[in-house]
Amino acid sequence: MTTATVDRVLALMIETKALLVGHFRLTSGRHSGEYFQCARILERPEAAEELGRLLADRFRDDAIDVVVAPALGGIIIGYEVARALGVRSIFAERENGVMSMRRGFSITPAERVLVVEDVVTTGGSVKEVAKLVRDAGGEIVGFGFLIDRSLDPPSLGEESESLLKRRIDSYEPDHCPLCLEGIPLAKPGSRPDGGT
Ligand SMILES: [Zn+2]
Repeated sequence: MTTATVDRVLALMIETKALLVGHFRLTSGRHSGEYFQCARILERPEAAEELGRLLADRFRDDAIDVVVAPALGGIIIGYEVARALGVRSIFAERENGVMSMRRGFSITPAERVLVVEDVVTTGGSVKEVAKLVRDAGGEIVGFGFLIDRSLDPPSLGEESESLLKRRIDSYEPDHCPLCLEGIPLAKPGSRPDGGT
């Protein structure tokens, strides 16, 4: 990603409040100065379309046949990447805990597949989707992510691209520099931006 692209993605994230900056208590109980609500950027179709195009640009020369996304988080960005590439967009979803291809979606043997997800941390879901694709005879060409939040990039075995790499630092409440500074603590879902 060029610096201009990263700056643009970051600006869009902040503008849409997909990335909140402040002082937050995470569900783990730890405190952090940043919080991601990736769905917020995708509630804006024009932003989703732009991000899809930026991610698709990384795979233009890869002769992709179909984009596959894990439900639910990957569906919108997967759709937009597929639109930008002019190819099919399908998704996999869990049925009794197992990642499955339902709704009549299918992969034809030898089809070239791009797996797209919104946020990657451990890469668990996308690895399951990749296995599903390979079991159907498809060829995984690469993985595309809106945000890579992994501390160690998951080893996926194919080209992997993300629009933004962002490690979120977090602290034990007893050792939180933001608490020491006296910055009010917000729970995500409240209005830490002070909006109404
Ligand atoms: Zn704190």
